[in-house]
Amino acid sequence: MLFGCNSSAQKNKEEKKETFKISKTDAEWKAQLTAEEYNVLRKEGTERAFSSELNDNHKKGTYVCAGCGTAVFESKHKFDSGTGWPSFDRAIEGNIAYSTDNNIGYARTEEHCATCGGHLGHVFNDGPKETTGKRHCINGVALNFIPENGESK
Ligand SMILES: [Zn+2]
Repeated sequence: MLFGCNSSAQKNKEEKKETFKISKTDAEWKAQLTAEEYNVLRKEGTERAFSSELNDNHKKGTYVCAGCGTAVFESKHKFDSGTGWPSFDRAIEGNIAYSTDNNIGYARTEEHCATCGGHLGHVFNDGPKETTGKRHCINGVALNFIPENGESK
């Protein structure tokens, strides 16, 4: 996979200097999150491609950070990228923050929840040309889906 979210390389980067509205100790996060959520959100892990139910979710609703519940993506901006990870052409502005990581040998735009700092995924420039051209490649395990009232139309 040339353009997945995968980051198997070992991390050796400085602690983030950002501060977040929701700030917990490592032990607190561990207690709150499942092992998978913790690995992605707090350790910048990457879930296995096609492992998330949300990858194929076409319902209307809002995707929120699994760490703190902040709304980060909307279903109308989701598209099928074929990569095996939930993909969006844009995030909910202001609720996401970005950094650069070099974890796999070249610079990528990392994105995380602006409220709790939880790692969500990466942004690439090979998204739908007819909209933003961006592909937000997101770990489904870092998200919870809140369906819009009632049935999807
Ligand atoms: Zn969060």
